[in-house]
Amino acid sequence: MLENKQFSARYFNGTSPIPISGEVALSPTEVSFFSQSTKEVLHLRDFHDLTFQAKGLKFTFREDQTQESPILEIHCNQEEAREIELLWLRAKNDMNLSRAINRELRMVHPVLITAVGLVLLIGIGFAYVSMLKKIHLVIPVTFDVSLGKEVSERIESSLPLCESNELSQYFSKKANLLIPKGSPFTYQIKFLDIPNTNAIALSGGTIYLFRGLLEKSDHPNEVWGVMAHEISHVENRHHVRQLVKALGITALITFLIGPGVGDFQALENVSELVSTVLVLKFSRDFEDEADDQGLVLLRNAKSDPQGFLIVLKRILKEEKQDVIGNDSTMRVFELLNTHPATEDRIAKIKDKMFRSSSDPFALKDWNRVKKSCKAKKVKSPLQ
Ligand SMILES: [Zn+2]
Repeated sequence: MLENKQFSARYFNGTSPIPISGEVALSPTEVSFFSQSTKEVLHLRDFHDLTFQAKGLKFTFREDQTQESPILEIHCNQEEAREIELLWLRAKNDMNLSRAINRELRMVHPVLITAVGLVLLIGIGFAYVSMLKKIHLVIPVTFDVSLGKEVSERIESSLPLCESNELSQYFSKKANLLIPKGSPFTYQIKFLDIPNTNAIALSGGTIYLFRGLLEKSDHPNEVWGVMAHEISHVENRHHVRQLVKALGITALITFLIGPGVGDFQALENVSELVSTVLVLKFSRDFEDEADDQGLVLLRNAKSDPQGFLIVLKRILKEEKQDVIGNDSTMRVFELLNTHPATEDRIAKIKDKMFRSSSDPFALKDWNRVKKSCKAKKVKSPLQ
């Protein structure tokens, strides 16, 4: 308790520049100052202000700035200084609001620091994530092209391609109706000898149409509906944005848990994953965006979008029948299955349907041409 303690102190009387050293004792209402030459009893309520100092605290008598105010410095530890402050506030019977709040804030100091720190961290996290959303804007489109080339080499070395001059000519000629004017990408349309209803777009503009998608389409509009969706993935740079997201989150984790723990192995694993599966599997947001913008492209081309709906319904049916089976190539494609939650997508697209009476993608011989894709001879590694 303060009442039994004495503290060393210095007293400036306001007239002499030399302080008097001595000791103080406190009661609930008074401070007694003793030195060899003087004894003063001061009422706590007469002190105008109290400030904390490194060695204790300082009382000031007057707020009047026109003349020097007597000052009493009491040397004590921080806890004692806070107790003296409380005595002073009680004696003044004047716990004014700001002082009281100030005092409370000081008491909760460590908790406050932690809370402010947490809020700051969360803020930095949000800023980081929103920065990630924009970072692709400063990545040149040549990056999309080289990333796509990398993945296309993997695809073409492990999956069967098929070829048809008629299909190639038809698709490369008509694709210009869908590709937005001023697109920075050069599109290449290739065919995979796989019986699923599916397609894959790579960053930079290579699009693979599956044999199953072509052969099961009664009208070329069905394939063009898928093409519009895939072109939208490319134009919106979903691959690069997906990559930034994946690498960015790894970098953030590395930053948070420290470079010693989140080592480069993690980054290598992610980039490995990215170059195979992740690049082909988009987030739900990107799928929705590609559906929406695909419909815009179809409208600009004055093509009827019903074909796209027909394909999605076919995909849904195939998903339900699990046509993937046990074939190992198909197992790979199960991983690459790029269009999740088909039912939801169908519902959303139905809301945005429109009609078009023109038929810009019509092909008289479609039923024959769609089956013209013949397996490409794969070079034996011994040759
Ligand atoms: Zn997609």
